[in-house]
Amino acid sequence: RAKEAGRNQVQFYEEAMHARIAERALIEAELRHALAREQLHLVYQPKLDLHSGVLTGMEALLRWQHPTLGMVSPARFIGVAEETGLIVAIGRWVLRTACAQTKAWQREGLGPLRVAVNLSARQFTDQALIAEVRAALDDSGLDPHCLDLELTESMMMHNVELAVAASHNLKQLGIALSIDDFGTGYSSLAYLKQFPVDYLKIDQSFVREMLDEPKVAAIVRSVLTLGHSLGFKVVAEGVETEPQLDYLRQQGCDEIQGYYFSRPLAPDAFAALLRQRP
Ligand code: C2E
Ligand code: MG
Ligand code: MG
Ligand code: MG
Repeated sequence: RAKEAGRNQVQFYEEAMHARIAERALIEAELRHALAREQLHLVYQPKLDLHSGVLTGMEALLRWQHPTLGMVSPARFIGVAEETGLIVAIGRWVLRTACAQTKAWQREGLGPLRVAVNLSARQFTDQALIAEVRAALDDSGLDPHCLDLELTESMMMHNVELAVAASHNLKQLGIALSIDDFGTGYSSLAYLKQFPVDYLKIDQSFVREMLDEPKVAAIVRSVLTLGHSLGFKVVAEGVETEPQLDYLRQQGCDEIQGYYFSRPLAPDAFAALLRQRP
């Protein structure tokens, strides 16, 4: 009986493993056509400046609407896109689309707007990145100050020398840089000061727990102090409640992003939000 149970367990794990491999193969095969079949689109989540109370910009987030798989979340396909290298073409499309859309809204008089685009590790170390960012800016006519690229700690710390050089090259274009999900990766404080970064984004896991866990609140306050001491602005992600917003404002956080203010919005809904602003 124990033997049989053991065998069942092995079988269970094998089946789960096969299911994962099959899922990955399916995602990979379908992702290859996603761009050409126009299944990818961007949604935009506003960022709110806590000092002025003004919507200052937004983060562009990728969505994949597949005819049979439905809405595939980035958690399910960004990793596959990275591993297969598909992220390079997809990332280029994201960059161009976000820049063009932002410029279109600016032309409509909907505000200065700074748009943030997530970069993947592959793109960050790609030789062609600088040329591609410049092309996206030139072709759209977007002012470089209105573009913000989000990097993660692991991207920066994997090869510090290379990453510092890449960051300086990007900064020379006149764009802004953010460190995303700050506090969840590995950051060497000694290296952090070498990066020409404009914004630190406190990861949403800290925001979620900070009002229940005094130690997490202490981490949030420390990140605010650290960021400000290094000359960065600090943004909090995943703000879902008014008490969270109040706490962050009281602690001197510069900007927030989260469901409390707005979920990520389709372009039409985002434009509508901009138009109804005072
Ligand atoms: P991220 O860059 O940290 O983006 C923030 C994520 O938090 C988004 O998830 C957003 O929808 C979600 N979020 C925002 N406010 C709240 C909130 O109040 N509560 C909660 N629970 N969640 C909130 P999303 O859109 O599923 O994206 C997940 C991750 O996928 C992103 O994390 C980013 O790492 C990656 N990603 C998304 N779009 C792109 C892209 O165009 N390129 C690359 N390379 N990665 C992307
Ligand atoms: Mg991000
Ligand atoms: Mg994040
Ligand atoms: Mg994240």
